[in-house]
Amino acid sequence: MRQPFVAGNWKMFKTVEEARLLVIELAAGLANVPAVEKVLCPPFTALLAVHAMLVGTDLGVGAQNMHWEVSGAFTGEVSPSMLVELCKYVIIGHSERRSYFGETDETVNRKTRAALAHALTPIVCIGETLAEYEAGETAAVIKRQVRLGLAGLDLTSPVPLVIAYEPIWAIGTGRAATPADANAVIARFIRPALSSMYAAAVSQSVRVLYGGSVKASNAKEFFTQPDIDGALVGGASLKAPEFIPIVQAAVP
Ligand code: PEP
Repeated sequence: MRQPFVAGNWKMFKTVEEARLLVIELAAGLANVPAVEKVLCPPFTALLAVHAMLVGTDLGVGAQNMHWEVSGAFTGEVSPSMLVELCKYVIIGHSERRSYFGETDETVNRKTRAALAHALTPIVCIGETLAEYEAGETAAVIKRQVRLGLAGLDLTSPVPLVIAYEPIWAIGTGRAATPADANAVIARFIRPALSSMYAAAVSQSVRVLYGGSVKASNAKEFFTQPDIDGALVGGASLKAPEFIPIVQAAVP
């Protein structure tokens, strides 16, 4: 039994003050939602404030990106050892990072290794573009992203690794994949790719989320699919009245 997992990716939204106000609402609304691992991923500038507000609660904090090196002359970057003071999670290889900032399966692999080495839980994003989807290339793209993104990780026992399947054509578009189609991609391509790379104890422990236009109104349909372990939520995570019911819908 994998514990349901819901993370909110705030992207480049919320000043520190706005983040504080949202956390007050979310902490109140999510205080009594059991059995779901819940994570907020604010921008770097708000991590310290959000971390301070959530110490001692069961709401986790995640970053949206990081560099793989511990330190060095990498202007503008943030390292795993800096993040680990403030967070337990980090989103890696989000499609916006891949398409606007040149991230590749290789950089995803480096970052995932670095996250695990620093006891950060990586939330590794994979997903096909609209052109790939329409060309019938979903299976090939997904298998490649899993194989290369997670290649050579030293995983011998259950690991805190989370994968978010996010078809790019469904992110921020209002056009979600159907729950059955998202489930099929996970069941037919992602889980078997993991099983082919790692021992059953490892591959079965990895949570696989769906992401792409998840809202309060459609969350339950995704969460009742047998192979969807939760969601990575973008736009709907910025408003407490939307995000709280999404998390509630994940309670088994
Ligand atoms: C995301 O940013 O990972 C995402 C899924 O966005 P949205 O929920 O807005 O589609």
